[in-house]
Amino acid sequence: MAQEIHSFEDLKLNRQLLSAIEDLGFDTPSPIQKQAIPLIQAGHDLIGIAQTGTGKTAAFTLPTLMKLKYAQGENPRGIILSPTKELVLQIKEHIIQMAANTDLRCVALYGGVGPKTQIEEIKKGVDILVCTPGRLMEIYAKGALVLKDVNTMILDEADRLMDMGFMPQLRNLLEIIPHKNRQNLLFSATFPEKVEELAGEFLDFPVRVEVTPESTPVETVNQKVYHVPNFRTKINLLEKLFEDEETFHRVMIFANTKEVANNIFSFIERKVTKDVRIIHSNKGQNARINAMKDFEGGDVRFLVATDVSARGIDIKEVSHVINFETPPKYEDYVHRIGRTGRAYHVGEAISFINKAEEYHFKEIQKVIKMNIPVSKLPEDLTVEPTPRQENIDMERVIDKFKRRADPNFKGAFHEKKRKPQNNTSQKSRKGSSSSRGRNKSTRRRR
Ligand code: AMP
Repeated sequence: MAQEIHSFEDLKLNRQLLSAIEDLGFDTPSPIQKQAIPLIQAGHDLIGIAQTGTGKTAAFTLPTLMKLKYAQGENPRGIILSPTKELVLQIKEHIIQMAANTDLRCVALYGGVGPKTQIEEIKKGVDILVCTPGRLMEIYAKGALVLKDVNTMILDEADRLMDMGFMPQLRNLLEIIPHKNRQNLLFSATFPEKVEELAGEFLDFPVRVEVTPESTPVETVNQKVYHVPNFRTKINLLEKLFEDEETFHRVMIFANTKEVANNIFSFIERKVTKDVRIIHSNKGQNARINAMKDFEGGDVRFLVATDVSARGIDIKEVSHVINFETPPKYEDYVHRIGRTGRAYHVGEAISFINKAEEYHFKEIQKVIKMNIPVSKLPEDLTVEPTPRQENIDMERVIDKFKRRADPNFKGAFHEKKRKPQNNTSQKSRKGSSSSRGRNKSTRRRR
């Protein structure tokens, strides 16, 4: 590239954008911004490999806003596609801040609420749309959108879009939106085969920029792990840790399922504080937005979340991410811990693992190419006995792993089934699974 980039001024952005950047308090462009913005401004199609927390959103919004310049006509000229409503709203928020000194109009389209208000907004005129693919198609199918003026199209979190099965909708969209003279950008945290395939269909002679190697967690996150035998003891450990209000001042707690998330939420609300909110897919759109706002605004200390609901959301200065359960999809571990240690803040990610989850955790450590240090449980922690069913669930998962390693292995769980009489050898075996043997995925990237 021709010129070294040191400052935002070097990026040849207009006065309006530079002043918004200053208002946001960004001093220097992040590595992905330094690399991607000049290439996008030069008109290239681009693949950006960058995780959330690297400043990737500004890397694609700044040059796009620069290109669109000011409000023009009725129809959108820029489209940003993103996998979840939370992410859509967050990108919109980002655009509103960046475009504060312009008259550019940004509309967000997402499901979970009726399309009427969104259609009315579009009718007033729009320059840039931020949307989930499903809702964009739905509104287009109603004849409420003219896409002929689109000259910039961006896929954000492309790996997520693929994981969530959006490929058919994306293919339809690519057919509908005029291809001629359209600049296309694709951003993804990882670059597995299916994203490569999508990139092949979507981009013309793209240049590729990359800021962190695949599946390496952001380096500013301290990671540690506790071995905890069962669900009840995990709850006790939460209570113990949360006694330290100063350290644990802004905590996201991850569960694998809505049920476990609800349990954790009720526990914190009952035993620790009312300063807690929850987001998962069964919560209404407004409840989710309010929960995020309360947490983001610092009004509440705790946010309990599932992976899908928390995907890509940008909440600043999270002091801790707690993996109450080990995620069944290992790349979700990376996404979860990316909530902390974001953009120049150091954070801590703590995982609670039971006997069964240990196996998954080993796989995670292989994926992230790191050994995560084990912490000792607090001495005064009450360790509860493991209920029978929880123990069976855990044994089932362990059996699966052992059988995978050795096909002749006769699992404890199956032996027990065959011989229903007393099996005392199992009794002393503590540990359990709160993941209910649901960890079916050994999905690996690439
Ligand atoms: P992202 O990776 O786009 O989710 O951005 C992560 C966070 O970094 C967001 O809170 C941004 O507002 C912030 N951010 C983006 N670019 C910069 C920058 N150049 N300097 C400081 N913070 C930034």
